[in-house]
Amino acid sequence: MGSVIPLVLAAVAVVLAWIAPALMARQRRLRRAPRAALVAWQAVTVGGILAALLTAPAALPLVLDGDEPLEHVGWLAVAGLVSGAVLLRLLVSGHLVGTRLRAARADHRDLVDIIAHHDREREQVRVLQHPTPTAYCIPGRNARVVISQGVLDALPPDELDAVVAHEQAHLEARHDLLLEFFAVAHEAVPRPFRSERALSEVRLLVEALADRAAVRRSGEVATARALVAIARSRAPEAALGAGSTAPVRLKLLADGPHRAVSAVAYGYAAMATLVPLVLLAVAWT
Ligand SMILES: [Zn+2]
Repeated sequence: MGSVIPLVLAAVAVVLAWIAPALMARQRRLRRAPRAALVAWQAVTVGGILAALLTAPAALPLVLDGDEPLEHVGWLAVAGLVSGAVLLRLLVSGHLVGTRLRAARADHRDLVDIIAHHDREREQVRVLQHPTPTAYCIPGRNARVVISQGVLDALPPDELDAVVAHEQAHLEARHDLLLEFFAVAHEAVPRPFRSERALSEVRLLVEALADRAAVRRSGEVATARALVAIARSRAPEAALGAGSTAPVRLKLLADGPHRAVSAVAYGYAAMATLVPLVLLAVAWT
């Protein structure tokens, strides 16, 4: 029985890192509960990593208390390779993604501080002299909300508040760290097994969450109008923009939240994180 557990853990890792994300990305209903859905995405990602990292510790009892420990040394070596390779990929990916994002943000923040001016009424906001309505935020230390003069000119006060509330929600909830976590996990997966759809789905959920903060500040109608107004805006790569996914998010605003979807997503999240831990416990009993 014990000798099967490392294999099961490796299989769970493949399921959680590859198959589950592909299936989840197709479940449009998850978008109705963005907070719970993001927890589910995090749980699946953490569960997949845990399952891979625990493969070696789960193989250890085979050698320590097995009847024929020498026969199992091969198993332990293979399991150790799996866990070690995953750990190494995560560390490398974490370093590369982190360095890249921080450098791009620092450069962009410097640029914004040179060419944009302070908004008179809003401490964190910087205004770019550009007619195209654009809004995004630069997260991290000395975070900035950047809007263009086009936004100030085109949007009435309640819609402008919605735009700023959306960006501030990103900064306050540290959505950048959440997205960085997913980017690190994504790049740690070997290229043929990566799911771009999973990553764009997570980005959409983060936008939907920030939209809800905007609705709380300015109401549904003003938020929807503001979304349409800045739909054409393009944010720089390392920033969090408010535009591009506008049509889907407009529909989500109209649909509103869904309690049952949220409950299912939380249950699923709990299972995805617990399964690898339970398997390890079984291996050691
Ligand atoms: Zn946004």
